[in-house]
Amino acid sequence: MKLDLIQKTAASCTSCDLHTGRKKSVFARGNNNAGIMIVGMVPGPEENEIGLPFVGPAGKCLENILIDIDISSDDVYITNAVKCALKPGIPLKEEWINACIPFLISQVYLVRPTVIITLGADATNALLGLPLDTRIGDLRGKVNKYMDSIYVVPTYHPSYLIRGGGTHHKDYKKVVDDFTFALTISETEKYKGA
Ligand code: SF4
Repeated sequence: MKLDLIQKTAASCTSCDLHTGRKKSVFARGNNNAGIMIVGMVPGPEENEIGLPFVGPAGKCLENILIDIDISSDDVYITNAVKCALKPGIPLKEEWINACIPFLISQVYLVRPTVIITLGADATNALLGLPLDTRIGDLRGKVNKYMDSIYVVPTYHPSYLIRGGGTHHKDYKKVVDDFTFALTISETEKYKGA
């Protein structure tokens, strides 16, 4: 099944309660052949209006991070673990994640990136099938493998950075370092395969 067909399926999906608040399904943006995939957790109000991931304040912070490592958002594939928006302040239910995760698995399978950067604990836990209460502090700094050969680099979510000053947050540089590390893996693996 191709990405556009999966996108159409997600846009009309009613497998969990979140479809009732959906204005536009939020599937992905960027390069379908990217070496780096970036996975957040769930779209917010801005994404619900526009139908693209990371177009709100967290998206601006993500753009800053990408500029700092000297790549464009067109060079990466950006998505979320859950495709329909959630109102701010409402905790994610495990049943919503379980209902939606097959879309993400299909995206990973078809894009087949070299590295996945997971933003925050929820996205990391959802992708890796870890207990949802596993904290980002325990996940960050440990590289995992997914589908045998894809590297997974967990880092902090841009929303967390925004709450502490964005680019001035004490952990902003750590996130840039994590993205730089992921880029290095991607470039190294590309070189090996050349
Ligand atoms: Fe379907 Fe995912 Fe939307 Fe739930 S969040 S309705 S599983 S597309």
